[in-house]
Amino acid sequence: MGTIYYDIAAIIILGLNLFFFYNKKKVLAPKNLVFVILLYVSLFSAIFDILGVCVNINALSTSYPLLLSINSLYYLFHNSIPFLFGLYIMFMTGIIHGMPLVAKILFSVPWLLNFFLISLNPWARWLFYYDSLSVYSHGSLVPVLYLVGLFYSIYAIWGVIKTRKALPPRTVGSVLFFILVSFIPALIQYLYPDQLLQCLGFAISELFILLTIQSPDPYIYSDTGLFNRNGFAEQVGVFLRTHTRFTVALIAVSDVSFLRRTFGLEYFAQLIHETSFFFQRELGPDLIAARVGEAEFALILRYDSVRYSAQSVINALIERFKRPWLVDRNSITLSARFCVIKVPEESSEPSEIFRVLDQIKNKSGQTRNNYTAGITDLELADKKRGAVIERAINLGFEKNGFSVFYQPIFSAVDHRMVSAEALVRLKDDKLGYISPSEFIPISEHNGTIHRIGDFVFDSVCAFMREEKLVEKGVGFIEINLSVAQCVQADIVKKIMDMTKKRGIDANRICLEITETAAAGTTGKLVQTLRALAEAGYYLALDDFGTGYSNIKYLMELPFSHVKLDRSIVYSWFDSDSGRIMLESSVSMFKRMNIKIVAEGVESAEQAHAMTELGCDYLQGYYFSKPVSTENFMALLRDS
Ligand code: C2E
Ligand code: CA
Ligand code: CA
Repeated sequence: MGTIYYDIAAIIILGLNLFFFYNKKKVLAPKNLVFVILLYVSLFSAIFDILGVCVNINALSTSYPLLLSINSLYYLFHNSIPFLFGLYIMFMTGIIHGMPLVAKILFSVPWLLNFFLISLNPWARWLFYYDSLSVYSHGSLVPVLYLVGLFYSIYAIWGVIKTRKALPPRTVGSVLFFILVSFIPALIQYLYPDQLLQCLGFAISELFILLTIQSPDPYIYSDTGLFNRNGFAEQVGVFLRTHTRFTVALIAVSDVSFLRRTFGLEYFAQLIHETSFFFQRELGPDLIAARVGEAEFALILRYDSVRYSAQSVINALIERFKRPWLVDRNSITLSARFCVIKVPEESSEPSEIFRVLDQIKNKSGQTRNNYTAGITDLELADKKRGAVIERAINLGFEKNGFSVFYQPIFSAVDHRMVSAEALVRLKDDKLGYISPSEFIPISEHNGTIHRIGDFVFDSVCAFMREEKLVEKGVGFIEINLSVAQCVQADIVKKIMDMTKKRGIDANRICLEITETAAAGTTGKLVQTLRALAEAGYYLALDDFGTGYSNIKYLMELPFSHVKLDRSIVYSWFDSDSGRIMLESSVSMFKRMNIKIVAEGVESAEQAHAMTELGCDYLQGYYFSKPVSTENFMALLRDS
């Protein structure tokens, strides 16, 4: 009979493991449930191993049913560990979510085989039995148990290697370590059955998993214990995958830069600390609290939490924000915005929740002392519409819903069509035509802008080539570039390749960048614009007059054209100051040899005034709305 000291050590370590597990904050996820079951099963396995040793020594004086029960339970607990570990890996890597039912059943078969062998063992004596002298002996099918263990180990290794790119770096190493530390003792015990090392091996490797993979630190602020943005996204992702219904309450503290500036960084940090503690402690343990931005918080309420309704939590929040926060004996009242989202009814993606957060964060118009808080339906309406548009964009790719319209641009002097602006259109079966003003910002957000941009660019080049536009008097076409496209690493090469592929010269294309985008210039954007200008493309500063940018700075960028925004064109008629501003801008552009396009020209009067002012080109409904390629060709023939 073996020694039980290793098992006693295992029990102590497993006790510690359970203590750590319950005392660490964690995402509520099935993988954690499986892990804690694994800990308990390992604990019972060690306990029953000891009991088994005790009864087997005294087999003669122990009742036969008791002998069988204790040993069978030990076999059952012990041989469930590899299966549970495999299951844990499936949940941890997320493999289980894409698994068909058949694969899930196949995965369980080896464990069911174990169960079958253990259940029938009292009669079949496959695994252990007592000989005529009541001495405990191993049966002939014990190697099957080891093979099953091997199966789940190989499965776990395959699982982590397959998904390694999506896992934190230390995970693969931890899993390999687990298997090594579990199975070397198993092998030793197989060869020397007296050395009861297996349970200790499991206990140590589980402790290791607990300290590495299960350690939630990347998800948590260690000082306040709140989840961070990643932890929040992870928790929301888990709930969505497991079809758990929940409500998210978003809280954005207002006037953050004002607070930081006025009271200093340290005071601000303490203030956020104070609010964090409120969310963490005072609102109650059933809530999952996260700090998802500098001064933004999110609370998750599960529907099965009876103690709190979303409304009562919001009421508590509003009440709390009416009272001051005390930091360093200075009290300060904060204002905040709140928003409640029901999941999955009102949102089905973590990214959407973050978008709403950005929206409430960026809403202006509140001052520190003037407390206003409300659960605005506005953001929700925006968000819902956003989700609908996002779907329409994806459908648009599938069903060729995108097309390019052209709005003619006329020479101011003789009203000849000399150019056109390409404007993308998205037609949806249910929503009809969706305005680019609506779907472009969303596509910039979710990355589909690149595909849309490529589509527009290629369509324009193909159209120019097919219809021989240049020969028909259309000198160049203007294409809008969003800043998201401009900061892409390979954008210049991509544009040049697409132009070359269709046999179009670079100077037949003018790329428009909006003023607001150019004003927020990053180094990469400047670099891109310079490279494009060098490659021969014209560049136009779009929507001039809408931003308040530093003109001198803008002029250091290689623009050949500027497009006066509709609003600044109208201001010419509205006020003296508008007129003065427009006149001085135009004369400055003229001196810099920059061509001027007036946009949004809707009447003969405006066309006349803009020509008088010195604009080179005119664009607007007075001449033509954006039209399809067929209609554009018809217009070109008639002009
Ligand atoms: P934008 O570049 O300022 O384009 C001009 C917009 O003004 C177009 O709206 C056009 O239909 C409209 N417009 C033209 N003349 C008049 C007029 O006389 N009166 C009035 N009230 N409006 C006029 P659209 O086509 O809805 O495009 C909206 C915006 O979407 C564009 O503004 C542009 O910023 C963006 N956009 C359009 N196509 C693309 C594209 O292919 N790529 C990117 N990145 N953005 C695009
Ligand atoms: Ca434009
Ligand atoms: Ca414009």
